[in-house]
Amino acid sequence: MTEKLSGLPERFDDIKKNYEEVMENISKASIQTGRKPEDVILLAAVKTVEPVYINYAVSLGLKYIGENKVQELLSKYDDYDLKNCDLQFIGHLQTNKVRQIIGKVSMIQSVDSLKLAGEISRQSVKNQVNTDVLIEVNIGREENKSGVLEENLEELLGQMTELDNIKVRGLMAVPPICDKKTDVCKFFDRMYKLFIDISDKTLDNVSMDFLSMGMSDDYTEAILSGANMVRVGSKLFGARIYR
Ligand SMILES: *Cc1c(COP(=O)(O)O)cnc(C)c1O
Repeated sequence: MTEKLSGLPERFDDIKKNYEEVMENISKASIQTGRKPEDVILLAAVKTVEPVYINYAVSLGLKYIGENKVQELLSKYDDYDLKNCDLQFIGHLQTNKVRQIIGKVSMIQSVDSLKLAGEISRQSVKNQVNTDVLIEVNIGREENKSGVLEENLEELLGQMTELDNIKVRGLMAVPPICDKKTDVCKFFDRMYKLFIDISDKTLDNVSMDFLSMGMSDDYTEAILSGANMVRVGSKLFGARIYR
């Protein structure tokens, strides 16, 4: 209980050290690819992290946070410092839960079907808001993973042009777990190629602004492959404790 109210001093110290280190690595990788440090967005994946620690990271300069479960997002919602940061949804989203988060999140990173996009559109119209989305690509073609297969991406984008109050702002991927960094880089490179190919096509209602890929173990590699948004959890907040 006291932890929830005040937070543990050691944990604040760790978060500060981690945040500075991640920002430094992002900065280096951005410069290596000829970009400015501020061209690459750090989104903190905050599942299992109490708002007191999330808000502390926000006080250090963190501007984007992402939740991946609707229930957890709703239970923490009143406690986030949303004046100073932007809340996004990054996990698998069931169609019947869409209405619970519309108007609360600025972007949904995990759209992978017309059915889901349609419901986001309907709920956004109803609430008189616009919702940005990323299309999640199952770049590793894994059976049990969400995301569209790359060959179906353009068809989905085409179908979505008719939908109101929803706008595609880019692509997101969670590549397969790879033992070698060179293997995960192949998936990142494929994603970057897709991102550029779609950008070149200038489709209606699609603006390829964000390529969201890379997590704690591989965000540097993702940036070197062209990511401009990385989603980092444990390297910021420490190993997750599921209760
Ligand atoms: C948890 C999570 C992350 C971050 O994972 P870490 O390995 O802890 O950095 C990134 N993206 C999504 C969708 C997640 O659920």
